[in-house]
Amino acid sequence: MLIDLHIHTKPASPCSALDPLELIQEAKRLGLDGVCLTDHDKLWDLQELQRLRQEHQFLVLGGIEVTSMEGDILVFGLREEPKGIISPEKLRKMVDDSGGIMLASHPFRGAFIAGKEFSIPGLTLTIEEACKEQIFRYVDGMEVLNGENSDIENDFALEVCERLNLRGVGGSDAHTASEVGRCVTIFEREIRSEEELVRELKAGCFRVEKFRC
Ligand SMILES: [Zn+2]
Ligand SMILES: [Zn+2]
Repeated sequence: MLIDLHIHTKPASPCSALDPLELIQEAKRLGLDGVCLTDHDKLWDLQELQRLRQEHQFLVLGGIEVTSMEGDILVFGLREEPKGIISPEKLRKMVDDSGGIMLASHPFRGAFIAGKEFSIPGLTLTIEEACKEQIFRYVDGMEVLNGENSDIENDFALEVCERLNLRGVGGSDAHTASEVGRCVTIFEREIRSEEELVRELKAGCFRVEKFRC
């Protein structure tokens, strides 16, 4: 099953120009099997998600992109929104209490890493240093394919992810229709609910792919 795990819609994410209905149409057109609504610090109402699924006969799942003190974190299986900017440690407690999963969003976006045009000698982050970043002590995984990241940033995240033996997921981080499906996560088993999504993410039965050209 092809699922885009990282999408922002309006008006829940003020930075997004993508309407939920436009998203569903585009996802169907592209041949995706499902999408996750991961708005900034905002959870969707479960009944509203159910209504979208039934009305459009399409898998629309919830999620949230939490603004943490150590960077953005995608969370699935969370039941309440954190109040204000939270530490990854506190978020971990909330996520564990609700049986969810935490994945660092677009790690290393904008960081000084080797190979980037503007990397500065002496300030360039090494893989070893990157692996020691606080956030990775609290997450189950990270995005190794994010549609907004450069290839260099994504490749660097993949290397860190593999070294730390964490789960590596893919998502488009779409804020417009043309960005939907840029990167996807392909699951081996069928997923029909957010609970099943969390279960499969924890099980690690998936791979990532750049989907939309
Ligand atoms: Zn945004
Ligand atoms: Zn995002």
